[in-house]
Amino acid sequence: MEAKYLKDWENDMNRCIRCAYCFEGCPVFKDLRWEADGARGKVILSYGLLTGQLEPSQYVADKIYQCTYCKDCMERCSANVSIPDILTAARADLVSAGFEYEAHKGLLNKIKQTGNIFGKEIEPPIQKGETPVLLGCRFLERTDDAKKYLEILKKLGIKPKVVEENCCGMPFAVLGYKDDFAAHKKEFNKRFPYKEFICLCTTCAFFIKKAYPDLKPKYVIETIAEKLPQYNPKKLGLKVTYHDPCNVARGMGMVDEPREILKQIGVEVIEMETNGKQAECCGGGGGVLVTDKPLAERLAEKRMNQALDTGVKTLVTLCPTCELNIMNAADKNGGKLKVKNVLDLVWDSIC
Ligand code: SF4
Ligand code: SF4
Repeated sequence: MEAKYLKDWENDMNRCIRCAYCFEGCPVFKDLRWEADGARGKVILSYGLLTGQLEPSQYVADKIYQCTYCKDCMERCSANVSIPDILTAARADLVSAGFEYEAHKGLLNKIKQTGNIFGKEIEPPIQKGETPVLLGCRFLERTDDAKKYLEILKKLGIKPKVVEENCCGMPFAVLGYKDDFAAHKKEFNKRFPYKEFICLCTTCAFFIKKAYPDLKPKYVIETIAEKLPQYNPKKLGLKVTYHDPCNVARGMGMVDEPREILKQIGVEVIEMETNGKQAECCGGGGGVLVTDKPLAERLAEKRMNQALDTGVKTLVTLCPTCELNIMNAADKNGGKLKVKNVLDLVWDSIC
């Protein structure tokens, strides 16, 4: 197999000293318990693909795709190895070698055909303001929620501009379709030709900051954290637990900002056993929801149980995928836990 993409990560892979610190918080390793399920094992598999000591196979592909990109391993890694980047390169080389999943191709075709992950025409809540706002596929589909969140921005003195947007392209990159991503990026820039803008979606914000170095997106939480104190928000008097999305806490380093916002609107946070940069993943990232749904569901159930252990009945979070995955787990378990977006509470407080 030609390891065209893995070549760029050879030095990173060589930095791995096999210490296994990355096993401690890896949700996939904790669920499946074999070496190849943790970051170290996946780095070894990737290195084998690079050197040719390992033939690509469906088993190897399945292991490389069983990663939620939660970045917990990167937080703990003693050698600063960029594990998700290595896995993205391994996925791209596996795709080039013909190891593709029908579910991935179906999802990517939907984006190519309609510009969103749902494969359907969705009318965006067009706004003719001054500050461009990217909704992201999930909030585009939850149009009524998106309208509420735009109201928050208006209350905070921002005039949102919403256009016919396009998916940020994260699924192409994460699932190993590098050439398709390069083409999609051009399309994204054409339909959304702004350098500075606000992102409503967690994943879009994190991904665009990393994959589009020329663009300067601001995650909506940064904007709210800056502006909210001037608006004397109403205190809601609620008690919730807060789930740190991987892309917010570990990806963008925002642990205090959401908690500070919740405090300002009178919402007390009862912390789960794991929180902040050590928060357990909901299981919904890295394409696992599509590649290995049962794994994604088990991880969501674990997170739901951690939330229930706090004794509160409501979990709030920011990422729409975390919201969806934990909500599905809660529904399957008798609806004992309510799941909401932090933005819904901000709306209750100031709108
Ligand atoms: S990103 Fe998360 S799921 Fe993937 S190897 Fe690292 S800790 Fe495990
Ligand atoms: S923590 Fe980092 S250095 Fe240690 S085994 Fe894992 S990837 Fe390698």
